[in-house]
Amino acid sequence: MDLTVFKQLRLLALLIFLPACTPQQSAGSTTPTLAPTLILISIDGVHPDYLERYPSQHLNALADAGVRVAALKPVFPSKTFPNHYSLVTGLHPENHGVIDNSMYDPKWDARFSMRMPEEVGNPRWWGGEPIWVTAEKQGQVAATYFFPGSEAPIQGVRPSFWFPYDGDTPNRQRVETVLNWLQLPDTERPRIITLYFSDVDSAGHAHGPNSRQVRQAMQDIDEEIGYLVAGLAELELLDQVDLLITSDHGMAEVNQAQHIVIDQAFDPELARYVRYSRELVSIFPKEGQKEIIYQQLKTQLPDEGVRLYRKSELPDRFHFREHRRIAPIQVLAEVDWILVRRSWLPGMINAPTYREPRGSHGYDNEEPSMQGMLIAHGPSFRQQHAIEELSMVDLYQVMTTILGLEAAPHDGDPAVIPLLLK
Ligand code: AMP
Ligand code: ZN
Ligand code: ZN
Repeated sequence: MDLTVFKQLRLLALLIFLPACTPQQSAGSTTPTLAPTLILISIDGVHPDYLERYPSQHLNALADAGVRVAALKPVFPSKTFPNHYSLVTGLHPENHGVIDNSMYDPKWDARFSMRMPEEVGNPRWWGGEPIWVTAEKQGQVAATYFFPGSEAPIQGVRPSFWFPYDGDTPNRQRVETVLNWLQLPDTERPRIITLYFSDVDSAGHAHGPNSRQVRQAMQDIDEEIGYLVAGLAELELLDQVDLLITSDHGMAEVNQAQHIVIDQAFDPELARYVRYSRELVSIFPKEGQKEIIYQQLKTQLPDEGVRLYRKSELPDRFHFREHRRIAPIQVLAEVDWILVRRSWLPGMINAPTYREPRGSHGYDNEEPSMQGMLIAHGPSFRQQHAIEELSMVDLYQVMTTILGLEAAPHDGDPAVIPLLLK
């Protein structure tokens, strides 16, 4: 039997026979001593100011006791897949190759989208070395309850426990499974675990960051964090397990009336491939058409709300130039604006929600609204400590340091390690 299937079955058996949160020790037994163990939690699309504006008592309690980072700077573009993968590899997207949620590879003439499971699980897209591969290669068990990249055998290695992404999996089931993993015998217990929640991001897109739906989603996820913390406390593990709670980016409120019709500003027939999104449009021109497309856009695009770049002119601070999947021409919306295709307009304008606020991210990663959050709590982290800003790529080396692993090459700044760790 395939080892992974075997492990999943074994986990299923555990889920059935081990009541969640039941401590392994009977009364009077000693507190178990774990080898360094880290749970990396991603709450997609949480801006740090949500922690002040919306019900989040459990998250705030962890931040008050441990480390609170005022802003976690996402990588560019401030999208889900590039950021999650930069978090676990310590690499900028130009160095790991997952340059957006959807991509085109001109050498392979192939497309990737986070909604194409066969490509999401294909290791050819995923460069660098994610933390679970570093761990497994060095003899530690890793487990992922969802994380971009975890479904692909990168360098031939998957986490010992992983699941194909299913956004309908109840959050409580995810948390219960993590608690059960921590009760496995020493040799099987994961040392690095990931956990992912999408609800706050989904509510943010549909209703904007200032909505009651985002408030509700924050409250719901905070309750899951509270359940995890209570479960860890019951297992007498709260002071032994490190928690790194992040978001991949923030969320900006957008008014859909403030849109720019992008395929009216150049001739798409001159392009080999165009990747449209509401924040960033990437154009691969046909042979010899690059300057023509660029000049069309330069002439046709409005002066306000949008930036036009040749690949060579993208700012250094984006670290977004060196990969063949980064298109020769990039059109980037300013926050407050969205880019649309002509064909999207009727559906968009006629929808009853057209005038209602929505949320977007993917913009310039220095924009205040695009910043993510970071909370760190546990035996390895400093206590009652505040940090102004960290970058997404800085965290891989923090995780390898906690776990005593030799890090693969990465783009993180080593000066960050003592800021977070004791
Ligand atoms: P974004 O479009 O950048 O807001 O992406 C957020 C969405 O990414 C979530 O709502 C999920 O549907 C999707 N997502 C997150 N993780 C995964 C994954 N591991 N595999 C496939 N889709 C994912
Ligand atoms: Zn996201
Ligand atoms: Zn999103």
